[in-house]
Amino acid sequence: MDRFTPDDRTDRPVLGAIRGTAGTLIVDGGASPAHLAAFVAELVAHDRPPIVGIALTHWHWDHSFGSAALDVPVIASEQTAAGVAVQAGYSWDEAAIRQRVDDGLELAFSLPHLLEEFTEDQRTSLRIVVPQITFAESHQVDLGDTTVELRWVGGDHAYDSIVIWEPEDRVLFLGDALYQCLWGDPVYLTVAGTRALLERLAPFDPAFALESHDPDVADAATYAMRLDELRRACDLVEQDGDDALRLAPDHGGEWFVENVEQLLSAPR
Ligand SMILES: [Zn+2]
Repeated sequence: MDRFTPDDRTDRPVLGAIRGTAGTLIVDGGASPAHLAAFVAELVAHDRPPIVGIALTHWHWDHSFGSAALDVPVIASEQTAAGVAVQAGYSWDEAAIRQRVDDGLELAFSLPHLLEEFTEDQRTSLRIVVPQITFAESHQVDLGDTTVELRWVGGDHAYDSIVIWEPEDRVLFLGDALYQCLWGDPVYLTVAGTRALLERLAPFDPAFALESHDPDVADAATYAMRLDELRRACDLVEQDGDDALRLAPDHGGEWFVENVEQLLSAPR
């Protein structure tokens, strides 16, 4: 497994590369062709096996707008492909993006990142690749000595989120699945969405887990703690309602308190 670390200047997420004897599968298309091309240059410099495909974790622009850098199939869930297709139908000049922000179709959060990641010329001539290989709930990619599994998990961040699982080294790419819904002010998590997500993640026991906007790779213990904190935040909110925020600092650290806050911010 190779990894390109995230860069929060333009919200570039982690890019991954899972290599087997039959080829290399790229995890996420990246924020722009320049982003993906920079990763591919690193892989070439390190003599990695030929790239056989790009798998998308969800449709958000920072994970899907770079796919055109490579002439390989893009693999995604049907829901992700539909989400990318909507984006491919939009104009990407600055005025059009600003209009969509006003109309509630684009996050205000994304605007400065989109302006920073691309020049106006690059953005307006961008070829957004709609995934050609799609699946409903799960899909396998045979890389020879390992078979990678793509499995839908959903969650509050994006309804279409999948995880990407490499079973030999037990590496789990989580994309943005554990993150909050950004389409609210304030941003929020729901108890139901979080519990359903935790249930769908239960079959996986990673030795390494990667979240797309976290520069660190979590080991098994850190990942288990992360999920446990989400579970306990749901418990506290269900037991104590609005009181949970006052009680939260007694039950966990800064991130735990943030989860409780976001669970309490869910539209009711
Ligand atoms: Zn996202």
